[in-house]
Amino acid sequence: MSLLSRIALPSVLSGIVFSASIHAQSANILLYHHIADDTPHSTSTTTAQFAEQLDHFEEQGYKIIGLEEMVHRIQTGEALNEKSLALTFDDGFVSVCENAYPELKRRGLPFTVFVSTAPVDKGYTGYCNWQQLKEMSKNGATIANHTTDHGYLVRSSLNDAHWLQNAKDSINKAQQRIKEEIGTAPMLFAYPYGEYNNELKHWVSEQGYIAFGQQSGSIGLNSDWQALPRYNAAGNYGSVNSLRHKINAHPLPLNYSELPDPVTQQRQPTMTVNLLPSKDAYYPHLRCYINGQALEPNWLSDTSFSVIPQQPLGNGRHRVNCTAPHRNGSPFYWLSQQWLVMAE
Ligand SMILES: [Zn+2]
Repeated sequence: MSLLSRIALPSVLSGIVFSASIHAQSANILLYHHIADDTPHSTSTTTAQFAEQLDHFEEQGYKIIGLEEMVHRIQTGEALNEKSLALTFDDGFVSVCENAYPELKRRGLPFTVFVSTAPVDKGYTGYCNWQQLKEMSKNGATIANHTTDHGYLVRSSLNDAHWLQNAKDSINKAQQRIKEEIGTAPMLFAYPYGEYNNELKHWVSEQGYIAFGQQSGSIGLNSDWQALPRYNAAGNYGSVNSLRHKINAHPLPLNYSELPDPVTQQRQPTMTVNLLPSKDAYYPHLRCYINGQALEPNWLSDTSFSVIPQQPLGNGRHRVNCTAPHRNGSPFYWLSQQWLVMAE
């Protein structure tokens, strides 16, 4: 955190905010679940689609790097290929071991698997086993923490005094199991369902984890390191056409740790965003959407706007996405905020 402030602050003070050199310090992460032809559409990337994606990344000059390396390079300002991608797989489904892994190994690509340890410990069919995970870890895979049981971590935060302790126990235990079985456990954590609140994020940060949600977006110097976005590369979003602009996107310039706590009891919660001055992102063409429907931003100044859902939101997860184009039309600058509505 302190290192991040030291890097970020001078660039803000000098007024040369988000210059071309900082653009090179942004990157994108893709999120997968199943790589299979017979699993649920919304969480699946077919084997053919997956190979097609990997071909596309290579053809377009993208460099696939490990997640830890990507984060480290951005945080420390080390050189990063302009087109850097990281591949992540949540849950440790068996198709990742059986279908994705051979393809990734053949191409020599690094990747990260966020594993919930209880299904693996119990030997559930449908999940990779420890032997498979260990084998992958010797050939490019990072095996990382996705809790023990994939429970909802923050849904009981409003009515259960033990919710945080339960979350801590699940994360600690999973970390211990990964270390025991794989021999090493990186400080990387993915929130089940991408659900978190500020209190959990704070504890995760204190422990030293870098943590990942499921909202879309790009990462850069001003990211919230305990709420990093990933682009879903499955279901309707799995085609090369759908991914083309996202893998080339940059973070919308703002301090991401200032975004509101995603857990809300309001049905029409306000997201206020203070953009950083940018000579590249063209704010007048900023567009916002909630759950895919257009949402008019309410401009408070040249660089500050708020968005409020026009219709009351039902309980559960919703996502607000905002994008602004580069002055030249492309690439896009991206922001996504999750709302987890838990009203009476
Ligand atoms: Zn998951």
